[in-house]
Formats: sequence, structure tokens, C-alpha cells
Amino acid sequence: MRNAQPTASHFINGAYVEDTEGALIECVYPATGKVIATLHEATPSIVDQALSAAKAGQKIWAAMTGTERGRILRRAADIMRERNRELSELETLDTGKPLQETLVADATSGADALEYFGGLAATLTGEHIQLGQDWVYTIREPLGVCVGIGAWNYPTQIACWKGAPALACGNSMVFKPSETTPLCALKVAEILHEAGLPAGVYNVIQGRGAVGASLVTDPRVAKVSLTGSVPTGRKVYAAAAERMKHVTMELGGKSPLIVFDDADIDNAVSGAILGNFYSSGQVCSNGTRVFVQKGIKQAFLARLKERLSGAVMGDPMDEATNFGPMVSADQMNIVLGYINKGTEEGATLVAGGKMADREGYFVEPTVFADVTDDMTIAREEIFGPVMAVFDFDTEEEVMARANDTEFGLAAGVFTNDLTRAHRVVAGFEAGTCYINTYNLAPVEAPFGGTKASGVGRENSKEAINHYSEVKTVYVAMTPVEAQF
Ligand code: NAD
Repeated sequence: MRNAQPTASHFINGAYVEDTEGALIECVYPATGKVIATLHEATPSIVDQALSAAKAGQKIWAAMTGTERGRILRRAADIMRERNRELSELETLDTGKPLQETLVADATSGADALEYFGGLAATLTGEHIQLGQDWVYTIREPLGVCVGIGAWNYPTQIACWKGAPALACGNSMVFKPSETTPLCALKVAEILHEAGLPAGVYNVIQGRGAVGASLVTDPRVAKVSLTGSVPTGRKVYAAAAERMKHVTMELGGKSPLIVFDDADIDNAVSGAILGNFYSSGQVCSNGTRVFVQKGIKQAFLARLKERLSGAVMGDPMDEATNFGPMVSADQMNIVLGYINKGTEEGATLVAGGKMADREGYFVEPTVFADVTDDMTIAREEIFGPVMAVFDFDTEEEVMARANDTEFGLAAGVFTNDLTRAHRVVAGFEAGTCYINTYNLAPVEAPFGGTKASGVGRENSKEAINHYSEVKTVYVAMTPVEAQF
């Protein structure tokens, strides 16, 4: 293994910890199917150690000033950037995503979050409200111990997008990565401690759903932030609600991307490629329902087919590769199952449609045309490189169809008509919208979903509201006037 490999399964109270009693988790490199690391699930004793450490660490951390906390987060951002290549290689091993992507999208995005929230830490304040002679002041307080639970598509980014705002507000965190990609979050914990984080403030433990569930129900936990599928979100939200805990839910999507006939076709094709095939389609906000106005359908599909020849499938460690494998054999089989359904239900296969003829879990970039709204590939999240292209005639029609879904994560429009662009995004039932681009998620901008796609927002100043609460203090300057 490379130098970056973590040295044990869990990171608790500032140090690596192992407990071989825990069930095995094999970390498989998706490009070869070979096991590259073996870890252990957290036992109840590990869960307890992590939560106890987080409970104690939070008190020390919250007693520091925002400036001191911010300095540590920004130092961690600098270390992540210095080690970008090493961390990117680990991200590629964990997920199979091409190094060409991970070098620019993972540790770098994690570092952005640490830097941004590190910068905000010293600015978090309450307010003063004058009421005649009396007055009220508010104190912005941390929630306490926060739990982060991650999906497998962006393990470094998710660990930082949850950890950075939580820590900036003075909380501590126990983070459980996806069992499919257990390695990267451990490096985030290691780097935070190298930057000076007090022991116990950011802990990482491994495990499958049951370990996540045991964290959610523990009375020491004040908040749960989940990135995962809608079915998991429903379970975690319900368990948290029963105990009145705060939640952030970053869940799945089936987002619309509408291309009007006045759009720049090349730009729209670029948006559709970025919004369907980056990370081999394993992106929650992907615009997987591409609605193309009838007049440009043939030109759009022709250009798209030409551009697909630019996909370079290969060894993800080779920087020329721009299209990697699915994260696991399971995910590959799920995606192939949807492709079969698309063909069976009558969609026209325009490109791709099968496994690649090589080792690893590669599925070709796949495009279906003539997709109708009732088909399975039009309704369910596939989470793979499968683009569905629909025809439409009018704006009114396409808006009704675009919003006719339980999901509401993202939505995009390509048009050169300025007023139409703004009218369309105003009508979208989605948390994150794009005009003439797709899938950008800078830390300065709120990110999250409506409807079944989630609750709360990550990134930006909005995230502060989801990791802190306000205490109100009424100060009387005159004697109490009682009723008797
Ligand atoms: P998943 O729902 O299977 O698992 C997500 C995490 O939840 C894992 O860590 C898993 O171990 C844990 N988990 C499972 N059951 C649990 C339970 N009962 N209690 C607590 N934790 C439990 O999702 P996945 O397959 O890892 O990821 C893919 C999904 O994530 C897709 O639906 C995708 O759209 C979504 N996603 C959303 C965003 C976003 O920001 N909105 C980002 C990335 C991925």
C-alpha cells in the first residue's frame, strides 16, 4: 500500500484504535476488484469510546475562542492542500474515481470547506435587541456532539462538509463513513489532529447501517447529518425525530435538466455530460432527466454521441483516464439492471448499454432517447452513468413534467432567453438550480434538497444555522411588575 494508508480502523480521541472483535469490512479497489485493505466494524465498546471522547472533547473545544478554532481548521486546510496528491490517490483507491478528478475535486473541496468555515468561526455571534430600557441578547451556542454519516461517492468531501461547519460552531463529531469507502475520512481526522485539534473533537468509526443506527439513537448525540439514499434518510430522520434531535438530510435525486431550442447546443451537451458522467454518474445532484426541445433533438443527440467518443476508460491512476468504474460490483449490477429495464420498457439505446470488456466494475457511458415519464429509468435514481433523454414541446409542459417527481435536489436549464431562464428556475421544485451550467457546488453557496431529497443545507453561512442554536437572554433594567 501507499504511504497514505490509515493504520487502523477507527480514529478516536486523537489516535488510531483497533478492535478486531468487530466484523470485517473489506475495502475493494473498484478498478480491479482486489481487496486493498481490511478493517473492522465498530463494536459497541468502540461506539461508546467514540461518543465519550466526543462528549469530553466538545467541552474543551467550545471553551476556545472562535479565532483559535478557526486557525486550527485553516491549518488543516493547508495540510490537505500540501498532501493533495497523496490524498487524491487514496480517494481513487477508495472509490475508483479517476485521479484526473480526485486531484481537483476531493481533498481540494474538503480543504475549501475547512478554510471557509475556519474563516467564519471567529465571526459567529448572537445579537442585541433593545426593548425600551430592557434588552435581550442572544448567544449562538454549539449543539454538542454531532454525528456525520457518509455515502460512498465523495468520502473526503463529505467528511469535511459535515466536520468543518460542525467544528467551526464548537461542536464535536463522530463520523461514520460508508462501509464501501472507509479509508479517506480517517485521513481527515489524522490531519485535523496534526493541525492542533484537541483529542476527541473529531472521531471516525467504521461500520454498516447498524453502527450508524446505534449512533443516531444514543442520548449523548444532539444532531445527525446524513448523506445517503432516501430510504436510509427516512429511517434516520424517524429515529432522530423520536428523540427530538437536529438533522441534516442530504439524500438522492432524479434531477431535470432542460435544454430549450435557443440554447448553445455544445454548451448544453457539455452540461449534460458533466451532469451525468462525472464520477461515472455517481453524483446525487446529477441531471439524469434531460428534456430536449423537439426542434434540436437530432442535433443534440448527434453532438452528444460524438462527444462520448472522448470518454477514456482505463486505469484510474493514469491521469489520462476520465471515466472510471462503479464503486462496487453491487452498484454495477444495480446499474446494469436499470439499463435492461430501459431497453425492455421501450427506450431507444443511443450509446453504451453494457459492462466494459476489462477487469473492474466498469459500465459504459449510456444514453437512452425517447424516454417517457412513466418508465422506470425516468422515475428511479440509478446512481450510475445512464442519461435519459426526453422530448418536449412547450415550457409549460416541460415544467410540469420536470417537477413531477418525489425528489427535489437539483435542476438546470440551458437557454439564451434571460427572462425564461429566471422564470424556469423560479418554477423548479429543487434546492439547487443552475442556469447554463450544471453540478457546480462551491463551498460559498448553499447546497441541499427539497421534497424527498432532504432537509437542511450544507456549505455557506446557511450551514451555521444547522450546527448551532440560539439562546435568548432577557435582561430587565426595572423591577418586576407581578399581577398580584
Ligand atoms: P445509503 O443510504 O445506502 O448509505 C448511506 C450511509 O448510511 C452509509 O454510511 C450507511 O452505512 C448508512 N446507513 C445505512 N442504514 C442506516 C441506518 N439505518 N441508520 C444509520 N445509518 C445507516 O447510501 P449510499 O448507497 O452509500 O450512497 C448513495 C446515495 O447517497 C444516493 O441515493 C445518493 O443520491 C445519495 N447522496 C446524496 C448526496 C447529497 O448531498 N444530497 C451526496 C452524495 C450521495
